[in-house]
Amino acid sequence: MTSANPLNTPALLRRLAIGGYYVASLPWRKYQMRKLRAQRRVPVVSLYYHRIADDRATPWTQSFANFARQMRWLKRHFDLVSLEEAQQRLRQGNTRPTVHITFDDGYAANCEQAIPLLLEEKIPCTYFVTTHYIMRGLPFPHDVARGQRLAPNTLEQIRAMAQSGIEIGAHTRTHPDLGKISERGRLHDEVIGAGEELQQAIGKPVRYFAFPFGQRRNLNPSAFHLAYEAGYEAVCSAFGGYNFPGIDPFHIQRIPVEDALIPMINRVTLDPRKLWSVRQYEYRVGSGSAAEQGVAAQ
Ligand SMILES: [Zn+2]
Repeated sequence: MTSANPLNTPALLRRLAIGGYYVASLPWRKYQMRKLRAQRRVPVVSLYYHRIADDRATPWTQSFANFARQMRWLKRHFDLVSLEEAQQRLRQGNTRPTVHITFDDGYAANCEQAIPLLLEEKIPCTYFVTTHYIMRGLPFPHDVARGQRLAPNTLEQIRAMAQSGIEIGAHTRTHPDLGKISERGRLHDEVIGAGEELQQAIGKPVRYFAFPFGQRRNLNPSAFHLAYEAGYEAVCSAFGGYNFPGIDPFHIQRIPVEDALIPMINRVTLDPRKLWSVRQYEYRVGSGSAAEQGVAAQ
């Protein structure tokens, strides 16, 4: 459980340290930004959230107050774009600070404050849901494992979000570690079957897919291949990294967000420790032209 208590000293010290690092590296960040802008290679940053609620029940829950502060800050300093627009900028080159917001799993609590805020502020987002739990009203296994039976979104909520213009994406049927699945039928069901079921349920195309857990070890080249062949327009991972124009718009690398403002600002503004260091994931789909093949992100 992360501590959301602002008086928690280790957390406070960590934030102060990040704040100091951010300020000290600001000239370098500005210099890099000018350089990338001139090259039309300003990266697209994709962030992922899980559950926004004030009970802060799990490490993947963030307070609404911090979420709202993050959104207000981002709106002032970044273009907040849809996944479609993000991909467009990756293909055509990008000169503007750009962020794309996503959610994973599908928690009912998000519909209380977070989603209404995004709709009110006209902030696009891609909302990835795990169909088995949504369809049956069951808690997610990672919460059950912690003894917390948190409510998933209802299908009605997902339909209402889709109607309001939120992009609904697939996040498998049962939230397995796809890195450990080699059986093709099972992989097909989790990647393609889940998307088809979701599409039928909401009456809108499901264009994007996000890997559960999303670290390198949880990815699977066969799942990339299946997703590509089935017509998904992008798949998302979650091991960090900036998305640079010119490199593989089919695979969107996402960055986790902490329950505070400063760490997020640090990550979205070209963190020197991360800018060039996150290695691309190697896979091949189709003719190979749509995918990167292990090119370093530089
Ligand atoms: Zn997930």
